[in-house]
Amino acid sequence: MPDVNRISRLGLVNAYLVDEEDGLTLIDTLLPKSGKLVLEEVERIGRPIVRIALTHAHGDHVGSLDELAAQFPDAEVSISARDARLLAKDKSLDPGEDLPGAKLRGSYPGTKTKPARTFAPGDRVGSLEVIAAPGHTPGHVAFLDTRDRTLYCGDAYSTLGGVATTAKPNWKFPLPAMATWHRPTEIETAKALRALDPARLAPGHGKVVESPAAQMDAALRGLQ
Ligand SMILES: [Zn+2]
Repeated sequence: MPDVNRISRLGLVNAYLVDEEDGLTLIDTLLPKSGKLVLEEVERIGRPIVRIALTHAHGDHVGSLDELAAQFPDAEVSISARDARLLAKDKSLDPGEDLPGAKLRGSYPGTKTKPARTFAPGDRVGSLEVIAAPGHTPGHVAFLDTRDRTLYCGDAYSTLGGVATTAKPNWKFPLPAMATWHRPTEIETAKALRALDPARLAPGHGKVVESPAAQMDAALRGLQ
């Protein structure tokens, strides 16, 4: 398996560079002012960013989008159609989203950059399959690398302080769960992602976990 290129800011927030034949796909963009950190890794690999794909519209995932889109003006920026509205700071709800306990939590700072493309589950971004993963945000997605079954799960799972869903605060690192939009939906997503049987889990927060099945099972059991 090729290495996963994880870029971590302070060990807390991750972005990833996925190798493709035509260049690199950047998954998420960290906090604001993280462009330099990403550029250092791009230079180390020696290939340009040709796509920027976002798991969701929270500020710690879209923070350096404007900076990086300016550095790589030809890169195709994409996000789910649903979270594209949040990226544009439109907090209106879709029919059916007015659920008990649902609330848009966490920061949605928006970006000046408008996505060139919005995707839906089942679409492809290079070798990545877009997987529906709503719950943390209404339009959250995960990306499954169809070549090696690495699952870039955004904030559907966190591994900081142990593998956990973001349906319930993990006392060792509660922040992602505190920003979750609708917990029952997030639990369904966590189960669906486990059912994909990923070869590794590459989360938005925490280390990459190889062969994560048993740890995902334990995280799901912890919800009951
Ligand atoms: Zn988030």
